Amino acid sequence: MSADARLSARLTAVDTAIADAAREAGRDPGELTRIVVTKFHPASLVRELVGLGVRDVGENRHQEATSKASELSDLELSWHFIGQLQSNKAKAVRRYASAVHSVDRSSVVSALAGETPLDVFVELNLTGDPGRGGVAVDELEPLANQVLSTPGLVLRGVMAVAPLGEDARRAFGRVRAASESLRRIAPAATAISAGMSGDFREAILEGATHLRIGTAITGKRPDAG
Ligand SMILES: *Cc1c(COP(=O)(O)O)cnc(C)c1O
Repeated sequence: MSADARLSARLTAVDTAIADAAREAGRDPGELTRIVVTKFHPASLVRELVGLGVRDVGENRHQEATSKASELSDLELSWHFIGQLQSNKAKAVRRYASAVHSVDRSSVVSALAGETPLDVFVELNLTGDPGRGGVAVDELEPLANQVLSTPGLVLRGVMAVAPLGEDARRAFGRVRAASESLRRIAPAATAISAGMSGDFREAILEGATHLRIGTAITGKRPDAG
């Protein structure tokens, strides 16, 4: 099989597995957004993915994302920023990103303010290790309130990565509970960004709406990091 055919086959296999998990959960697959995480892969791979019908791509480093976005500015793409974000980069990320999934600090929220709408997810830290990205569950509400009162930000919901060593279904169950409590103060913030290559089924079963899938679609990343 050629590299193109392999990419296409992996994309189809993942989309089939997503649809199966949605049916298992009694949900409509059409309500899920599958984001292909293209970090470390060249812009040429993103272009191939677009040829296969992909519209949502995820990147975790600003330098890499901004150069790909400018190289591919002829394409209709939604760029999702999913990595740790420094407030001094926030304005620049806003120029190409349609959504930022990794908002976890007051300074970043302020720096993301703007005149055009930007979708925002507040990242939850499920590990208990404060060195990891994301806020603890009890910091979710104050940060969400700040997003709600910041011009140009549209609070979509929560984002999380399942910790290593915890059952993914259980971890995503905690995300679902946090999402439900968030909706009491922000009824429109219904989205849950959760689920990667190894655990998107579990995420879908716990209500994920935005899946961030890399290697299961792209194959191994050219250089790990
Ligand atoms: C890299 C990354 C992903 C995708 O991971 P895979 O295991 O390759 O699917 C998803 N979310 C975040 C935040 C990432 O950094």
